[in-house]
Amino acid sequence: MKCSRCGKEAFTKLKRHNAAFCKDCFELFFERQVEGAIRRKQMFTKNEHVLIGVSGGKDSMALWYYLHKAGYKTTGVHVFLGIGRYSEESRKIVESFALSHGLSLKILNVADFIGHSLPEATKKLKERAPCSLCGSIKRYILNKFAVEQGFTVYATGHNLDDEAATLLGNVLHWHIDYLAHQDPHLPSPHPKMTRKVKPFYTLTEEEIIHYVTLHNIPFIPERCPLSIKAKSLDYKEVLNSLEEKSPGTKHMFLLGFLEKGKQYFAREYTPPLLRECERCGMPTTRDICAFCRILEKLRNQGVKNSAHSRSE
Ligand code: SF4
Ligand SMILES: [Zn+2]
Ligand SMILES: [Zn+2]
Repeated sequence: MKCSRCGKEAFTKLKRHNAAFCKDCFELFFERQVEGAIRRKQMFTKNEHVLIGVSGGKDSMALWYYLHKAGYKTTGVHVFLGIGRYSEESRKIVESFALSHGLSLKILNVADFIGHSLPEATKKLKERAPCSLCGSIKRYILNKFAVEQGFTVYATGHNLDDEAATLLGNVLHWHIDYLAHQDPHLPSPHPKMTRKVKPFYTLTEEEIIHYVTLHNIPFIPERCPLSIKAKSLDYKEVLNSLEEKSPGTKHMFLLGFLEKGKQYFAREYTPPLLRECERCGMPTTRDICAFCRILEKLRNQGVKNSAHSRSE
């Protein structure tokens, strides 16, 4: 198999682009995709300091590697969730990567914010799916950190597969509000919220795996053990089987939606009015923000449990 660009021996075939690439041309393809996304969506410039959410997974590690290599000023932020060996390994990976590349990194420990690790909190608040609880907590502490430290842009490694799966979930449930504003660049709706960007939204999981392999970028290969029941995995499976039969389906679904479909939902959408939480002062649509409500439930659960153990 020959490279479609230069004719050298190919390293990979990308069916959705009907092209094969050698290592050099694949790198060029990959990096052009990222730069194209950053420019097209006006995500950030080299004058800005980009905060990157680094979980230790392949996507965020590849993003951190690329942005640093391309000369962007970055700081990584890692949320330590306390999910046993998985969290310990993830933390080790981001710490050693930061050290070996001379990068700045901040670790935020969930237990310092809610008094419990994520698995403990999940046990206490059984009515919430782990990923929904985790998402609310991470969103809050990451945004608070970003705002307090003066970052104006927060980047994540979400890829085409992630975004297409989110879109499928939003369509299946007709989440009109989410459909109206699903975008790889979410502007800040409030002075206490950073804008959020996803520079990998045109790259597939498979392409990112090729990139990390090519550069020996360390990452944690296992999935988070709490993700087993995540609906997004089912959506990815469905999309992958369609992609297998018709390469380019995921790309057409997501990029077609962003270019042609989203506008119809955006017309119907009125952004919610944001005010400041009565307890913590962070933006919310309610009197008390989602994070402070989680804290309250965890406290009440503790009171309930101690009353229960006293009565035993
Ligand atoms: S898979 Fe779910 S629980 Fe695990 S880190 Fe991601 S959102 Fe959190
Ligand atoms: Zn080539
Ligand atoms: Zn609050």
